[in-house]
Amino acid sequence: MGKKRKDDGYNKGKFKEVEYFLKGLRAPIFKLLNHKSKHKYDCPICGYHGPFMDKNNRLRAKCPKCGELERARMAMLVVNQIYDAKKASETDVLHVSPENFLRKIFKEKYKSYISSDLYREDVDQQFDIQSIPYPDNSFDLVFASHVLEYVKDDRQAIQEIKRVLRPGGLAFLPVPMLHDKTIDFEERPLNKRIIRETGIDYFDRYREVFSEVTVYEPGSFDEKFNLTIDMQDISDSEKHNYQLPNLLPVCSA
Ligand SMILES: [Zn+2]
Repeated sequence: MGKKRKDDGYNKGKFKEVEYFLKGLRAPIFKLLNHKSKHKYDCPICGYHGPFMDKNNRLRAKCPKCGELERARMAMLVVNQIYDAKKASETDVLHVSPENFLRKIFKEKYKSYISSDLYREDVDQQFDIQSIPYPDNSFDLVFASHVLEYVKDDRQAIQEIKRVLRPGGLAFLPVPMLHDKTIDFEERPLNKRIIRETGIDYFDRYREVFSEVTVYEPGSFDEKFNLTIDMQDISDSEKHNYQLPNLLPVCSA
Protein backbone atom coordinates (compact mmCIF):
# COMPACT_ATOMS: atom_id res chain seq x y z
CA MET A 1 0.00 0.00 0.00
CA GLY A 2 2.80 2.38 0.98
CA LYS A 3 4.51 1.86 -2.36
CA LYS A 4 1.32 2.54 -4.26
CA ARG A 5 0.78 5.81 -2.42
CA LYS A 6 4.34 6.89 -3.27
CA ASP A 7 3.75 6.22 -6.97
CA ASP A 8 0.51 8.17 -6.88
CA GLY A 9 2.29 11.13 -5.33
CA TYR A 10 5.01 11.00 -7.96
CA ASN A 11 2.48 11.00 -10.79
CA LYS A 12 0.58 13.85 -9.21
CA GLY A 13 3.72 15.96 -9.14
CA LYS A 14 4.49 15.16 -12.74
CA PHE A 15 1.02 16.04 -13.96
CA LYS A 16 1.11 19.31 -12.03
CA GLU A 17 4.00 20.47 -14.19
CA VAL A 18 2.06 19.58 -17.34
CA GLU A 19 -1.00 21.34 -15.91
CA TYR A 20 0.94 24.57 -15.24
CA PHE A 21 2.51 24.39 -18.70
CA LEU A 22 -0.90 24.01 -20.36
CA LYS A 23 -2.41 26.77 -18.23
CA GLY A 24 0.40 29.06 -19.35
CA LEU A 25 -0.64 28.48 -22.97
CA ARG A 26 -4.33 29.17 -22.30
CA ALA A 27 -4.22 32.98 -22.43
CA PRO A 28 -2.07 33.39 -25.60
CA ILE A 29 -4.07 30.74 -27.51
CA PHE A 30 -7.42 32.12 -26.37
CA LYS A 31 -6.32 35.64 -27.30
CA LEU A 32 -5.19 34.52 -30.74
CA LEU A 33 -8.44 32.64 -31.46
CA ASN A 34 -10.55 35.60 -30.30
CA HIS A 35 -8.43 38.48 -31.57
CA LYS A 36 -11.39 39.93 -33.50
CA SER A 37 -13.60 40.12 -30.38
CA LYS A 38 -14.94 43.58 -29.62
CA HIS A 39 -14.97 42.72 -25.92
CA LYS A 40 -11.54 43.33 -24.46
CA TYR A 41 -10.93 43.84 -20.76
CA ASP A 42 -8.22 44.42 -18.14
CA CYS A 43 -7.47 42.01 -15.30
CA PRO A 44 -6.37 43.88 -12.15
CA ILE A 45 -4.86 40.69 -10.71
CA CYS A 46 -2.43 39.50 -13.42
CA GLY A 47 -2.36 42.52 -15.77
CA TYR A 48 -3.77 40.57 -18.76
CA HIS A 49 -5.54 42.65 -21.44
CA GLY A 50 -7.80 41.01 -24.01
CA PRO A 51 -10.98 38.95 -24.39
CA PHE A 52 -12.29 37.05 -21.34
CA MET A 53 -13.65 33.48 -21.26
CA ASP A 54 -17.21 32.37 -20.50
CA LYS A 55 -17.77 30.51 -17.24
CA ASN A 56 -20.70 28.11 -17.63
CA ASN A 57 -23.40 30.49 -18.83
CA ARG A 58 -21.79 33.61 -17.43
CA LEU A 59 -20.50 35.51 -20.44
CA ARG A 60 -16.91 36.80 -20.42
CA ALA A 61 -16.53 36.11 -16.70
CA LYS A 62 -13.05 34.61 -16.47
CA CYS A 63 -9.57 35.99 -17.06
CA PRO A 64 -7.85 33.42 -19.31
CA LYS A 65 -4.42 34.13 -17.82
CA CYS A 66 -4.94 33.88 -14.03
CA GLY A 67 -8.35 32.21 -14.19
CA GLU A 68 -9.94 34.60 -11.66
CA LEU A 69 -13.62 35.58 -11.77
CA GLU A 70 -15.55 38.80 -11.14
CA ARG A 71 -15.58 38.57 -7.34
CA ALA A 72 -11.82 38.11 -7.00
CA ARG A 73 -11.06 40.84 -9.53
CA MET A 74 -13.28 43.31 -7.69
CA ALA A 75 -11.65 42.44 -4.34
CA MET A 76 -8.26 43.16 -5.92
CA LEU A 77 -9.43 46.58 -7.14
CA VAL A 78 -10.79 47.52 -3.71
CA VAL A 79 -7.63 46.32 -1.94
CA ASN A 80 -5.51 48.34 -4.39
CA GLN A 81 -7.72 51.39 -3.92
CA ILE A 82 -7.37 51.33 -0.11
CA TYR A 83 -3.76 50.14 0.31
CA ASP A 84 -0.97 51.95 -1.49
CA ALA A 85 2.58 50.56 -1.11
CA LYS A 86 3.31 52.60 2.03
CA LYS A 87 0.08 51.70 3.81
CA ALA A 88 0.51 48.03 2.85
CA SER A 89 4.01 48.02 4.37
CA GLU A 90 2.46 49.11 7.70
CA THR A 91 -0.43 46.60 7.67
CA ASP A 92 -0.60 43.34 9.65
CA VAL A 93 -2.91 40.90 7.84
CA LEU A 94 -5.05 37.96 8.96
CA HIS A 95 -6.35 36.08 5.90
CA VAL A 96 -9.05 33.50 6.60
CA SER A 97 -9.64 30.70 4.06
CA PRO A 98 -7.01 32.27 1.77
CA GLU A 99 -7.38 32.88 -1.94
CA ASN A 100 -4.07 32.18 -3.67
CA PHE A 101 -3.80 35.39 -5.68
CA LEU A 102 -4.34 37.52 -2.56
CA ARG A 103 -2.05 35.39 -0.42
CA LYS A 104 0.83 36.11 -2.80
CA ILE A 105 0.22 39.87 -2.72
CA PHE A 106 -0.28 40.09 1.04
CA LYS A 107 2.87 38.03 1.66
CA GLU A 108 5.04 40.12 -0.64
CA LYS A 109 3.84 43.64 0.05
CA TYR A 110 2.31 43.76 3.54
CA LYS A 111 4.05 44.17 6.90
CA SER A 112 3.09 40.73 8.23
CA TYR A 113 0.79 37.96 7.09
CA ILE A 114 -0.99 35.03 8.72
CA SER A 115 -3.25 32.68 6.76
CA SER A 116 -5.77 30.51 8.59
CA ASP A 117 -8.53 27.99 8.11
CA LEU A 118 -10.48 25.55 10.25
CA TYR A 119 -9.66 22.51 8.10
CA ARG A 120 -7.19 23.35 5.32
CA GLU A 121 -3.56 22.35 5.81
CA ASP A 122 -1.99 24.85 3.40
CA VAL A 123 -2.26 27.66 5.97
CA ASP A 124 -0.11 29.13 8.75
CA GLN A 125 -2.62 28.49 11.57
CA GLN A 126 -5.64 26.21 11.93
CA PHE A 127 -8.34 27.68 14.16
CA ASP A 128 -12.04 28.33 14.54
CA ILE A 129 -12.99 31.90 13.66
CA GLN A 130 -15.52 31.85 16.54
CA SER A 131 -12.52 31.89 18.88
CA ILE A 132 -9.50 33.59 17.28
CA PRO A 133 -6.32 32.71 19.23
CA TYR A 134 -4.81 36.22 19.11
CA PRO A 135 -4.92 39.10 21.60
CA ASP A 136 -7.10 42.18 21.10
CA ASN A 137 -5.77 44.73 18.58
CA SER A 138 -3.47 42.31 16.72
CA PHE A 139 -4.24 43.11 13.07
CA ASP A 140 -4.95 46.02 10.73
CA LEU A 141 -6.72 43.95 8.09
CA VAL A 142 -8.86 40.80 8.30
CA PHE A 143 -9.87 39.32 4.94
CA ALA A 144 -12.50 36.55 5.17
CA SER A 145 -14.41 36.12 1.93
CA HIS A 146 -17.37 33.69 1.79
CA VAL A 147 -16.63 32.33 5.28
CA LEU A 148 -19.41 33.51 7.59
CA GLU A 149 -22.14 31.53 5.79
CA TYR A 150 -20.42 28.36 7.13
CA VAL A 151 -20.02 29.47 10.76
CA LYS A 152 -22.57 28.31 13.32
CA ASP A 153 -22.36 31.36 15.59
CA ASP A 154 -21.55 34.02 13.03
CA ARG A 155 -22.31 36.90 15.41
CA GLN A 156 -19.62 35.56 17.75
CA ALA A 157 -17.22 35.34 14.78
CA ILE A 158 -17.97 38.94 13.79
CA GLN A 159 -17.28 40.03 17.41
CA GLU A 160 -14.00 38.11 17.32
CA ILE A 161 -12.92 39.78 14.08
CA LYS A 162 -13.69 43.19 15.58
CA ARG A 163 -11.76 42.28 18.76
CA VAL A 164 -8.52 41.33 16.98
CA LEU A 165 -8.62 44.43 14.76
CA ARG A 166 -6.86 47.58 15.85
CA PRO A 167 -8.88 50.81 15.94
CA GLY A 168 -9.11 52.02 12.34
CA GLY A 169 -8.47 48.50 11.04
CA LEU A 170 -10.60 47.03 8.24
CA ALA A 171 -12.46 43.74 7.77
CA PHE A 172 -13.38 42.56 4.26
CA LEU A 173 -16.32 40.20 4.83
CA PRO A 174 -18.22 39.39 1.61
CA VAL A 175 -20.80 36.58 1.65
CA PRO A 176 -22.91 35.22 -1.24
CA MET A 177 -25.95 37.30 -2.13
CA LEU A 178 -28.64 34.63 -2.44
CA HIS A 179 -31.80 36.39 -1.28
CA ASP A 180 -33.11 39.72 -0.13
CA LYS A 181 -33.35 38.32 3.39
CA THR A 182 -30.91 35.94 5.10
CA ILE A 183 -32.16 32.48 6.07
CA ASP A 184 -30.46 30.97 9.17
CA PHE A 185 -30.79 27.19 9.57
CA GLU A 186 -30.90 25.66 13.07
CA GLU A 187 -28.62 22.85 11.94
CA ARG A 188 -26.58 22.44 8.76
CA PRO A 189 -28.92 20.97 6.13
CA LEU A 190 -27.80 17.50 5.01
CA ASN A 191 -27.38 18.53 1.38
CA LYS A 192 -25.45 21.74 2.13
CA ARG A 193 -22.11 22.83 3.51
CA ILE A 194 -23.41 26.25 4.53
CA ILE A 195 -25.50 26.88 7.63
CA ARG A 196 -27.20 30.02 6.33
CA GLU A 197 -28.23 31.45 3.00
CA THR A 198 -27.05 35.03 3.21
CA GLY A 199 -28.91 37.94 1.69
CA ILE A 200 -28.61 41.65 1.16
CA ASP A 201 -29.76 42.34 4.75
CA TYR A 202 -26.81 40.36 6.13
CA PHE A 203 -24.56 43.43 6.34
CA ASP A 204 -26.79 44.74 9.16
CA ARG A 205 -24.99 42.21 11.39
CA TYR A 206 -21.74 44.06 10.65
CA ARG A 207 -23.36 47.43 11.34
CA GLU A 208 -24.29 46.23 14.86
CA VAL A 209 -20.59 45.72 15.65
CA PHE A 210 -18.47 47.97 13.43
CA SER A 211 -18.43 51.77 13.39
CA GLU A 212 -18.83 51.94 9.60
CA VAL A 213 -19.61 49.56 6.74
CA THR A 214 -18.81 50.61 3.16
CA VAL A 215 -20.35 48.39 0.48
CA TYR A 216 -18.54 48.31 -2.89
CA GLU A 217 -20.63 47.43 -5.94
CA PRO A 218 -19.38 46.14 -9.32
CA GLY A 219 -21.21 48.90 -11.19
CA SER A 220 -19.04 51.59 -9.61
CA PHE A 221 -15.88 50.32 -11.34
CA ASP A 222 -14.74 51.03 -14.89
CA GLU A 223 -16.37 48.81 -17.54
CA LYS A 224 -12.90 47.79 -18.75
CA PHE A 225 -12.73 45.43 -15.72
CA ASN A 226 -16.01 43.69 -16.65
CA LEU A 227 -17.21 43.01 -13.10
CA THR A 228 -20.94 42.87 -13.79
CA ILE A 229 -22.48 39.46 -14.36
CA ASP A 230 -23.86 38.86 -17.86
CA MET A 231 -25.90 35.67 -18.25
CA GLN A 232 -27.08 33.74 -21.27
CA ASP A 233 -29.56 30.90 -21.71
CA ILE A 234 -31.07 31.21 -18.25
CA SER A 235 -34.79 30.74 -17.77
CA ASP A 236 -36.68 33.54 -16.02
CA SER A 237 -37.31 31.38 -12.95
CA GLU A 238 -33.59 30.63 -12.60
CA LYS A 239 -32.55 34.19 -13.35
CA HIS A 240 -33.51 35.41 -9.90
CA ASN A 241 -30.79 33.21 -8.40
CA TYR A 242 -28.09 34.81 -10.48
CA GLN A 243 -29.07 38.43 -10.75
CA LEU A 244 -27.90 39.59 -7.33
CA PRO A 245 -24.53 41.32 -7.71
CA ASN A 246 -21.24 40.50 -6.00
CA LEU A 247 -21.07 43.06 -3.20
CA LEU A 248 -17.96 43.70 -1.11
CA PRO A 249 -18.57 45.06 2.40
CA VAL A 250 -15.57 46.66 4.11
CA CYS A 251 -16.07 47.17 7.85
CA SER A 252 -14.13 49.75 9.92
CA ALA A 253 -13.21 48.84 13.50
ZN1 LIG B 1 -5.95 37.72 -14.65
